[in-house]
Amino acid sequence: MIHFAIEKANHVLVIAHIDPDGDAIGSLTAVGQALMQLGKRVTLVCDDSVPARFMYLPLAGDVLREPLPNAAYDLVIAVDCGDASRMGWAYECLPEPKPSLANIDHHITNTNFGAFNVIDPAASSTAEILHSFLQELDVTLTKGIAASLLTGIVTDTMGFRTSNVTPATLRAAADLVEAGADITAISLRALHQKSLATVQMWAIGLNRMKLQQGLLWTTISRDEMRQAGLDGSPSSSGLVNFLADVDSAVIGVVLGEMPDGTVRVGMRCSPPYDVAEVAARFGGGGHTLAAGCTLEGPLDEAETVIVAACLEAIQRQRPAAG
Ligand code: 5GP
Ligand code: MN
Repeated sequence: MIHFAIEKANHVLVIAHIDPDGDAIGSLTAVGQALMQLGKRVTLVCDDSVPARFMYLPLAGDVLREPLPNAAYDLVIAVDCGDASRMGWAYECLPEPKPSLANIDHHITNTNFGAFNVIDPAASSTAEILHSFLQELDVTLTKGIAASLLTGIVTDTMGFRTSNVTPATLRAAADLVEAGADITAISLRALHQKSLATVQMWAIGLNRMKLQQGLLWTTISRDEMRQAGLDGSPSSSGLVNFLADVDSAVIGVVLGEMPDGTVRVGMRCSPPYDVAEVAARFGGGGHTLAAGCTLEGPLDEAETVIVAACLEAIQRQRPAAG
């Protein structure tokens, strides 16, 4: 039982997924604060750095890029990771035998890779699962934990707009606001505000977008990201959300060339289409309406493959007329 494993653990390593989003960082920092409240030693880690827009969260500045090399962890908790590879190097680099692993997540494609699996695909976000899970551990819902969890819910639901928002999501959010989370500031900072460089990247992507049979997609090369002033592995999830909101699109896709030459693919669709299925075919995953995967380069070959797969999915998944 995961509750017992947490109770007896002294030092816990908590891992958020590579290329972290608000649910990953919100869940990571919420679990960190909760475990510290329970008197545990905690190490928070993520392969990629915490995006600047989440730096207001407690413990966000303490997230390491990889774990302390020689610490002895009794337990690893992965948050918001759909499969084991999403934990990245942070988990791989742990010496064998690795500590037991708890997997807390809401992706429908979750592979149950933990010794303990707390998976609820009906939850809007991992943060929503944690809202009830932390109560089961008798953690007091502090203002800081509430801010972390509300950040996860607000970002993963795009401000309560996604189809997996339920009365339970809204009740959890109300509880977090009551505990002191500032929903206006969180929505602005975590969801809407973006850097000028990000918008410059969007401009490049929007300039080149193509529409075919309801598939609206674009590509952004490494050089173009640099030209926009973006370094590292910038997220293109804002742009892909924007594309999928175009009324003539049923699937939106952004392919971005990463520093190592691989191609990150972000996909969004509207019902009754399913991009999780397309992403899973390339070793990725996610949710029915929001998914992603990583392909080998070069960019134009990845584009050809993904466009063909999406067009095929549109043909197959298209509802019968009448
Ligand atoms: P995004 O396009 O925002 O990076 O990802 C959309 C959703 O798909 C998120 O829930 C994210 O966790 C999931 N996702 C993105 N890429 C991958 C991947 O390579 N593997 C898996 N399992 N899930 C992914
Ligand atoms: Mn999530």
